[in-house]
Amino acid sequence: MLKVGMVGWRGMVGSVLIDRMRAENDFALVEPVFFTTSNIGGQAPKEANGAPLKDAKDIAALKQMDVIITCQGGDYTTAIYPPLRAAGWKGYWIDAAKTLRMKDDAVIILDPVNMPVIKNALAKGVKDYIGGNCTVSCMLMGLGGLFKADLIEWMTCMTYQAASGGGATHMRELLTQFGTLHAEVKVAMRCHSQALTIKLRKDVPLADIESILASDNEWVKVIPNERERSIRELTPAAVTGSMHIPVGRLRKLAMGPEYLSAFTVGDQLLWGAAEPLRRMLRIILQK
Ligand code: NAP
Repeated sequence: MLKVGMVGWRGMVGSVLIDRMRAENDFALVEPVFFTTSNIGGQAPKEANGAPLKDAKDIAALKQMDVIITCQGGDYTTAIYPPLRAAGWKGYWIDAAKTLRMKDDAVIILDPVNMPVIKNALAKGVKDYIGGNCTVSCMLMGLGGLFKADLIEWMTCMTYQAASGGGATHMRELLTQFGTLHAEVKVAMRCHSQALTIKLRKDVPLADIESILASDNEWVKVIPNERERSIRELTPAAVTGSMHIPVGRLRKLAMGPEYLSAFTVGDQLLWGAAEPLRRMLRIILQK
């Protein structure tokens, strides 16, 4: 079994990742080893089978891993990745932080959108797989069909970001300040929403656009441009904790038939962060 080092597993992204890995039974397929930057020797999740938490800065311990999945953050990646590679580690590095995202020999992971790129990279021996920007990942999950059909000439987006994008520490501060409002507002806090203006390469009938979008992947859900359906199904409250990516408010603009507007919502801790990481682990396991 592959030894998989889990770093940053108790943060906002990491805890969602652990939940998803449990739900999909991923831990049964690997030997997980849990690391920490703050509680060395402390109690690890039950999947560690009683083994205490290891030091996430111990290069020798990290070197024993076949795969490292980190949701610890960019500072950790900056500090640990270079010396780990310099020490000769050849394992797979799967990371939620943006630090390595644009490196020439790293690949951004969102497999429903770019599986061929990922497979090609694996075949070539690429070892670094980095989660995309959470907002862009959620957008691509919703609009992927139009990109794959090469129908988009350009697109602008206005994003409405969830507070939890700032991480657990900022969330705690925010929630403390909110006080008793916490219970009322917490379910609106982990989705990013985006209003999109798109210039298509040509005039495509709205019905065709809807069917291209809807058939792109099993998670995208086209919401008819009706007031009640939009209010019910196209909001952060409806999407939080769900793998679905609704896309709605689809309409042509008065500027011309090639101009399209759309609105989409995604749970940035799922498709925006944790889900591509665990799916990358599965892809490596199937290699
Ligand atoms: P986070 O919640 O701040 O967690 C990161 C680490 O901080 C934890 O694993 C934990 O490490 C430590 N930590 C310190 N105080 C904590 C506390 N009170 N509760 C829990 N953990 C605490 O960060 P994050 O939002 O998950 O982000 C991790 C990485 O993913 C970042 O690079 C971020 O940019 C990226 N990302 C985040 C999102 C998002 O929506 N939040 C989306 C996409 C990508 P130890 O256990 O070692 O102490």
